[in-house]
Amino acid sequence: MTDEHVSVPFMSAPALCEKLIPSGRACAVTAIGRCHSCGDAFCQTHQARTGGHVSTVFVDWCKGCQVAAATARAAEESAGKAQEAARAAAEREKAEVISSRVAVLKKILVESDRSVWQERRRHVRYRSFMGVSLPDVTEPLERAIPVGQLGWRFPLIGDYNTLDPYGPTVSMKSGLTAAGKIVLMERGRASLTDSDFRGVMASSPAEIAERLEATARAFGIHVPH
Ligand SMILES: [Zn+2]
Ligand SMILES: [Zn+2]
Repeated sequence: MTDEHVSVPFMSAPALCEKLIPSGRACAVTAIGRCHSCGDAFCQTHQARTGGHVSTVFVDWCKGCQVAAATARAAEESAGKAQEAARAAAEREKAEVISSRVAVLKKILVESDRSVWQERRRHVRYRSFMGVSLPDVTEPLERAIPVGQLGWRFPLIGDYNTLDPYGPTVSMKSGLTAAGKIVLMERGRASLTDSDFRGVMASSPAEIAERLEATARAFGIHVPH
């Protein structure tokens, strides 16, 4: 009964809906359009439409194809999310490997009797106190093992409109303290000023690991892989 309608060309005599109903037969209600995607004639019930308060109907798209497209899109999205999660997990794992590598290298350097420790000094500038100007002094700081140049960033002064309050990365002589902290070795007249202590490390953990390893090798310390 409905088979004769299958071949009816679009825009000719009214076709009957070709969408299958749960019984397995065609719906056969008078069609109002033909799907551009699957080619089936569809009735109002089997017409694609947007949900929500104000529904928009699609003149040339059937509900079956709309559902299939939504399902495919959802599958694609969840595949994308799974991929993103896998990438994030791989990155976390890599970061953990590097951070434990840094810890191992710090320990090797600090505990090695071949490491060269260097004194560090802080330059303290006394401004006048009650009209009496006091001389600048230098105070000793915790000594450190020089590890070469690493990147540091220092706070910008007087510019509160910027989102990033730190200036560009500057390459500075850096060191490793007995406590395992990466510090500045010296600046200017070989002693550090108060503003130097507001600097933040700009080198990545991978760069730090590379520096520490090169330092250990320079001291002839065996570095396990
Ligand atoms: Zn369709
Ligand atoms: Zn129908």
